[in-house]
Amino acid sequence: ASAAEEKDLVIIGGGVAGYVAAIKAGQEGMKVTCIEKRGTLGGTCLNVGCIPSKSLLNNSHLYHQILHDSKHRGIEVGDVKLNLKQLMKAKEQSVSGLTKGVEFLFKKNGVEYIKGAGAFQDEHTIKVQLNDGGETSVKGKNILIATGSEATPFPGLEIDEQRVITSTGAIALEKVPEKMVVIGGGIIGLEMASVWSRLGSQVTVVEFLDQIGGPGMDTEIAKSAQKILKKQGIIFKTGTKVVSGDKTGELVKLEVDSAKGGKPETIEADVVLVAIGRRPYTGGLGLENIGLELDERGRVIIDSEYRTKIPHIRCVGDVTFGPMLAHKAEEEAVAVVEYIKKGYGHVNYGCIPSVMYTFPEVAWVGQSEQDLKKAGIKYRVGTFPFSANSRAKTNLDTDGMVKMLADPETDRLLGVHIIGPNAGEMIAEGTLALEYGASSEDIARTCHAHPTLAEAFKEAAMATYAKAIHF
Ligand code: FAD
Ligand code: NAD
Repeated sequence: ASAAEEKDLVIIGGGVAGYVAAIKAGQEGMKVTCIEKRGTLGGTCLNVGCIPSKSLLNNSHLYHQILHDSKHRGIEVGDVKLNLKQLMKAKEQSVSGLTKGVEFLFKKNGVEYIKGAGAFQDEHTIKVQLNDGGETSVKGKNILIATGSEATPFPGLEIDEQRVITSTGAIALEKVPEKMVVIGGGIIGLEMASVWSRLGSQVTVVEFLDQIGGPGMDTEIAKSAQKILKKQGIIFKTGTKVVSGDKTGELVKLEVDSAKGGKPETIEADVVLVAIGRRPYTGGLGLENIGLELDERGRVIIDSEYRTKIPHIRCVGDVTFGPMLAHKAEEEAVAVVEYIKKGYGHVNYGCIPSVMYTFPEVAWVGQSEQDLKKAGIKYRVGTFPFSANSRAKTNLDTDGMVKMLADPETDRLLGVHIIGPNAGEMIAEGTLALEYGASSEDIARTCHAHPTLAEAFKEAAMATYAKAIHF
């Protein structure tokens, strides 16, 4: 390609990080190309992550609720049957609608989309193995690495996506396993455990730490989540590590051991889900051709403006530092294009919400109580239970609470932690408050509509500096 054809920005990876950067760059009038090898846009999130998992969570919850939580509401149903094929079809419909939507947005914003695998030939040239066969190359003034992440495998237990699966297999099982063991009680583990347990599987979650929920979840909230999920039928083995696995027999066997040492035990399952985290993905990218190094965890090293040590090559999303979340990737994608175009951009890493889409949902933003203790930061706590909230009472969904942490001197909000129905929507208010540097009193003096679950949020804020009215 001649210099005249050089693009302003070439993006490798069409996941949330890559496709959002491409759209933003198009909107900014840049000539932009996005290379994606999957065959569809949207990456892990749209194809095998956030979106399909939330479809299964929503519909498995409905099924479970109709079966076990409708009679006392005055709804009597006849024969309730699971049609797993249709459940999966509904999921695929949501996914394809959204991935095609991104393709439409590419056209609308003048983004060139190349279907193929990209690799660095030199610092400005990407060679692409086209999905349809053949090869092409594209040059960029700026290049963005947005190649995402992949599931971390469990040593000695080969993934076949049938009996030993990652989340990709877990969103596509063709029948409900009688017994399922989940290695890792993080967000993926608990969301998938919920889906299959609701559909009738006996699910055991083995978690190395004493606490479920993965990194960041407030300990008090995590304990409450574990209690509620246990009531729903999920078996937990916390403080337990999987030592080895064997899938040569009819059932998959796992050797588990107390994390602190103790007597080992064998557990068996039809299906084992490996959900012990994800790792950055740079396979086949040809980083060696340009001398880019990774850190000890395989992440592309960048500075605060997303630049690698080669300044026109930048990197955002799961493949670099920070929490592996779609909305974090999206924020970075917008910021990196602004850095390239205008020289400034911004992401507030202290203010990225997390949501676990179980029932009830768990959501948080800012610091947890254990974070604050560890950092020696003084704080005040205000809590409000949903059992005292009128809307939760009318909905007969009263499990959970809102917990707020604030600075004892300035009253500035430090963290918000919610377990309860719709927590994932409610956390947006906490995130906005934290972003604006609100005090708990600011929130408590803001009028909230009645009857809403959000009133629990207001009352928890009140309880932080004074007393809640309804509890
Ligand atoms: P990815 O989405 O992984 O996209 C990278 C893309 O790059 C891929 O499509 C890949 O094919 C492509 N690629 C890689 N190398 C090349 C190459 N050399 N050439 C061309 N293309 C290449 N996050 C949330 O915020 N909320 C959720 O509810 C949520 N649920 C999840 C559920 C599951 C089961 C999983 C696995 C993840 C979930 N996540 C969720 C995390 C979320 O999916 C990721 O944080 C997000 O997808 C990261 O976006 P990304 O663009 O950085 O990477
Ligand atoms: P995670 O890091 O959240 O949790 C992994 C868990 O596995 C940890 O609790 C860890 O202690 C445990 N573990 C590790 N090794 C173990 C072993 N040998 N035996 C027993 N337990 C072990 O990772 P994940 O749940 O796989 O999720 C991966 C990423 O995807 C995360 O960054 C997560 O935020 C993201 N994700 C987000 C959502 C969401 O936002 N709703 C949903 C799914 C995934």
